[in-house]
Amino acid sequence: MESFMDNFRERSEVEREWLQELFVFVRDNLFPVLGPTTGSVSPEQLSLAMIRRVERAVGSSSARSLPLSYRLISVAELVTWQRTPCCSNLTWSTAQHREWVREAEQALPNHKALPRASLLLIGCLSDGCDPERSCDGAWRVRDATGTVHCELLSPSPLWLGLPVLFPCWNYIPQPALGKDQEVEERGYLELVGCPLALTSVPEMTFNPAEVNLKRAVGVREAAELIQHRVRGLRVKVYGEVSGVYPLLNIAGKSLFCLRLREGRHTLPLLVTEPCCLWWQQCVCVGGSVCVSGLRVCALQGWSGNRVLCATSQSSLTLLPDTLIQDLSDPPTLDKHTPDPDPVGLDPPLSDCSSTGCPLPERRGAGPDPDPVGIDPTLSDCSSTGCPLPERGPDPDPSPILRPKLSKAISYKGVLTSVLSAAAGLYVIDGKVGLCLAYQPLQRRGLRPGAEIELHDVHFLYRPSPHFHPCMLCVCLHSSLRVTSFSRLGSEVDRPSDAPLPWLLLERNLGVSQYLWLCHCCRALRDRLVPRWVKEECVYVVARRLFECVVTSEKGGGRRDIYREMLQEPHHCPLTEYSVSSPVCEYVSVSDCVCVMEKECWSSLSLSSLLPACGSSLTQAELNPSIAWSVGLSLGQDIQPRPLLLVGVLELPGTHTLRLRDQTGAVTCVAVETGDDDSGGQRAANNTAWIGCLVCVQRFTMVMERFVQSEFPSYRHLDQDSYITHKHCRVYIQLCLNDLQILSPSAAMASLLLRENIRTTQGGERVEGGEREEMSETERERREKGGEEREERRDDVSERKKRSREEERIEEKKEEREGGAKRARQNHTENETCSQPGGGASLPGDRPCISVVMCVEGKEGVAWRNEGIACEGEEAGLSLCFSVRADLIGQIQRWGRDPRNCPLQERETDGQTRTVELLFVRSSVRWFPLIQAGSFYRLIAPNTQDPSVLIGCRVAGRSGVVLHTNPSLLVRSDWRIHTLTHPLLTTPYSQFVSQKVMSVAEVLDCSSGVDLVSFHGVISQRITLQRGTTTHTPTQRGTTTHTPAQRDVEAGLSVRLTVCVEPRGRSLQVYLDLSLTPYPPGLVPGNTVQFTSFQRRLSRVGGVYCRSVPVSCLTIMALGKTDTQSCDSPPPMILLGVWALAGAEQCILGRVRGHVVCVLYLQLQWTCSLCGSIYTQERCTRSQPPCNSTSAVFQAEAKAAVEDGSGEAHIWFSCPVISGLLGLAMPQWEGLQRSLRVRGHLRVYTRGRSLVCDVDADDPLLQYLSCVCSSSTVCRPLTLICTLHTRSHTPAARREDSSQLKRFTRGDREFVTRMPPPLQLTCTHILEERERD
Ligand SMILES: [Zn+2]
Ligand SMILES: [Zn+2]
Repeated sequence: MESFMDNFRERSEVEREWLQELFVFVRDNLFPVLGPTTGSVSPEQLSLAMIRRVERAVGSSSARSLPLSYRLISVAELVTWQRTPCCSNLTWSTAQHREWVREAEQALPNHKALPRASLLLIGCLSDGCDPERSCDGAWRVRDATGTVHCELLSPSPLWLGLPVLFPCWNYIPQPALGKDQEVEERGYLELVGCPLALTSVPEMTFNPAEVNLKRAVGVREAAELIQHRVRGLRVKVYGEVSGVYPLLNIAGKSLFCLRLREGRHTLPLLVTEPCCLWWQQCVCVGGSVCVSGLRVCALQGWSGNRVLCATSQSSLTLLPDTLIQDLSDPPTLDKHTPDPDPVGLDPPLSDCSSTGCPLPERRGAGPDPDPVGIDPTLSDCSSTGCPLPERGPDPDPSPILRPKLSKAISYKGVLTSVLSAAAGLYVIDGKVGLCLAYQPLQRRGLRPGAEIELHDVHFLYRPSPHFHPCMLCVCLHSSLRVTSFSRLGSEVDRPSDAPLPWLLLERNLGVSQYLWLCHCCRALRDRLVPRWVKEECVYVVARRLFECVVTSEKGGGRRDIYREMLQEPHHCPLTEYSVSSPVCEYVSVSDCVCVMEKECWSSLSLSSLLPACGSSLTQAELNPSIAWSVGLSLGQDIQPRPLLLVGVLELPGTHTLRLRDQTGAVTCVAVETGDDDSGGQRAANNTAWIGCLVCVQRFTMVMERFVQSEFPSYRHLDQDSYITHKHCRVYIQLCLNDLQILSPSAAMASLLLRENIRTTQGGERVEGGEREEMSETERERREKGGEEREERRDDVSERKKRSREEERIEEKKEEREGGAKRARQNHTENETCSQPGGGASLPGDRPCISVVMCVEGKEGVAWRNEGIACEGEEAGLSLCFSVRADLIGQIQRWGRDPRNCPLQERETDGQTRTVELLFVRSSVRWFPLIQAGSFYRLIAPNTQDPSVLIGCRVAGRSGVVLHTNPSLLVRSDWRIHTLTHPLLTTPYSQFVSQKVMSVAEVLDCSSGVDLVSFHGVISQRITLQRGTTTHTPTQRGTTTHTPAQRDVEAGLSVRLTVCVEPRGRSLQVYLDLSLTPYPPGLVPGNTVQFTSFQRRLSRVGGVYCRSVPVSCLTIMALGKTDTQSCDSPPPMILLGVWALAGAEQCILGRVRGHVVCVLYLQLQWTCSLCGSIYTQERCTRSQPPCNSTSAVFQAEAKAAVEDGSGEAHIWFSCPVISGLLGLAMPQWEGLQRSLRVRGHLRVYTRGRSLVCDVDADDPLLQYLSCVCSSSTVCRPLTLICTLHTRSHTPAARREDSSQLKRFTRGDREFVTRMPPPLQLTCTHILEERERD
């Protein structure tokens, strides 16, 4: 030390202190690790060399200045304390650094340059072969305190083992992977400049004179040599490097491969020798090398092909680019080299090489790539023109699935962004995607701003719609090298994508599948984290989602590593790719709503909403027929890709079920497949679905349109200015059985578990018997055990926590909605339960009471004045509904929430009593899942007091006896769990819910019945006249509709036509929706149960139904959207038969008969505004005058038709009248024109001729009279007719309405009782030729 300091006597005190520290540092940290290559140096010599280097680096050699602001740092200090990326550059001035920062930040404006740290780093470069660990080929910087990974741009083999000073480097900390992370994994160095050697021997620069190419052979010669295996042969080869393939670690063995080239000949070199693995960093494509000590190996996994392998005697020499051309003498092979390793001819690789199918022999004249130049832009250097075998059994892939071929190219560019380093996804030059997932991902230095060079990389065009159209994908045959380190800092990557490349390997995913999966991970993270899915579980959900979607598509075959790296022509999983697989598109809930809203109006065609006689509708008839319409489309039919939704099912504070993610929520109309084997649907009733994270692939998008318009006539339909208001309501319809559960709710998890146990134990019956004997504790233990088993294999714990989390959120929300008093009461408890680690006090584990109930009937949800103590809220209308239920057995106390666990014997002991359950305000949320006939367990949490669940009787006053049931107000924090597979052994299974009739029964039942319940299929829906919009119910936190929406829907009055089968008898149901929240799902095709509707008789005796305040609508089954178009023609029927049987025969039928005569014909121009007669371009109404300018032509006719079995009076209206009269379109239009003057004409049969109200000599009348009596009208016809409501009752039962008729024959007069003729309406005339 003293002798060292003696050299610096003239220095200042500060400098001497710095120098002293330097000496101590060199002596303690660097000197101990010096290897034998360094020769014998003392710490003093080392320190002096260091000072010389530093001084030379810092400034001019004359001005001796020391960088006193710099501090020496050891490797251990660096990796332990440096937590942010930084750079150090000894040689820069402040101005130079500033310029460097400016340049870097200009190139990528969103990034900040690395901050500068004044740190001096010295150490030895090592090849990663420490005695204590196996060689991994990674270069490291080493000092006495430890080692750290380093990346170098073009290291020289001569640098290894030398003590060096690093003048310029970046340090990049790595994200923490866990507690067991090795110290050296915490970060890595990027060594930017050449390290400065602290010893003078040996030379660190290349000396061409020392290159010994004696006995070296070129690639072409070597390729011939390896065809003949000679024992003990050692080869020395030189050539240009054409490929450096990634370092692989297979079953603990590391290896890599490089390829040399000479002209058109290439030669692979396999490096498995641990002490040679560091070569991988030194060689780069385009450089020239000479490698010695190679032996010929036959690779078992690569049939019949031989390669050169590095041995422990091998050495690598980098050659200057010009050298090879200078070699003129053909080198000779030294065949007398002794073989020190005679057993090594078969490489010890057989365990890791895959045993693929026998491959074709390699042919020397394969299409070799052209000389690789580094292209600054995308260009084709070579195409893989190898014939590819057809993949898969799919005989006719759709165009979108047809595989495409990729091209191998070279590319050089700057990384501009890192999409996910863990998934291997990057962007180069802002426009080209880069996927590294098909190589082992251990790339350091791939940060935004880094320049990279790629060779033999696959260029794919649009492999996935979610990434850049141009994608570069590397495989095991691609070379990737960082040519310049980034000057920019970068964020720490999410480690949660890390399992994605594993799935790629495990499932042999195609590139578009992999990109789809990566996209889903990102989307799931945006849409579900953190509320429903924890960050670290995103991958698990994405994987399940992938498995739901990809059921049949299979990935590529197993990857054959040697074949992929070595075979020419090249073939790998990337040579062939399918575009957009899987084809479906995972959209967020809000995107789905947007799609529906857009589709809603784009699919609307107003004229298509009109009936066949649309052109003759007046304004009053026209506008209601377009006031409401619906568009249905299947999610899987959406173009260009079918939609896929992921969300959580929830019951919000309103009366509908919803599917939700973080972007929004969509209302769902849900049904379930019944328990019976019929496959029929029923209303959804299982509350276990609430909280489940589900994947929805099969769903119907329903788009209801509400249009307020003032169109004068159909001719104005194209003018949007007549639409005064429009709005749409969109939601989806689904069957719960079609959903795929990605993460079940706690209740669903235990339900699935029980079903599993049941199926594994072979049949329900056995299980049932066993269940009775099993005590509660046993069962609980078993369930628990089962859960634990599942947990180990799965992420149940995660979803449990999640559902607890959810419950907590739910509870908090409920409290906000619930009474203030109750909220205060619960507040303290919740505070304790939300503390971390307070597992015992989680909501599900707290004591509660329960009672089992069977629902007998449910009323519709509506705004009512319940007059219930409003818990501090203002009085008014509140959303509510009530349920009549039988409470079974005694009220039970529980230590923890029993949820939907099977019914226990103690719960069914005791009396059954009927109560009215009142659901008010936020409790209304249970409405969609409470169904008559189902069993539920009602749970009141946080109490042990049974009186809470005992209903109270309404107090009777002064002797008045009340025959009401006790009522029970369901509080907002109560929970309801559906008991599925209930009670097969109990007497309660025979509970019969309310009598539900069919449509025919409602039509035919005795008039005494007032309130009826029935079910049927909606065949038509019409919005009736608008009610007054003065009523706006107080909607407390239930809807978020805009005022306009409320305006359009308020006071809505709807008429539904309900039937059982498409051509069966139908019933009109009138709904008054003014006091009910809007019911979704009332669309044609759906089966609806109408509960408690009023049955009424119209003035003409027809039956119709009307909603009353207690009426309830339940969607029982969803219609099919595709069966309407392909109807078969209605049945042929004889008029006599039809008259006798009435509607029991059919409603719609085909009649073949002969027109006897036209009984009545009316033609009229009608004012489309007021309905008066319209003549000569003006309306005839005078009181008050009407100045309408539009008129519509209307026509009506009645004809007598007979077919031999009977006679019928058939009504014809506008669109079919011209057919009846046998008039062609020009004649029919001419007739309309000629009627313009007089406006209308009415003719009817008197005797054998047609007469008119007015002048009998009218030419038009004579013309019509002539036409009607001619054989053009009185002809045989085939008609499609519907039965008039009046004729529905069979003639046999209609005698009271039959008429007395008088006939005269000669001088005799007969009076006879005649049934009224069959009344039909013709909808379609089939001429004789189209009859069949
Ligand atoms: Zn490839
Ligand atoms: Zn008018």
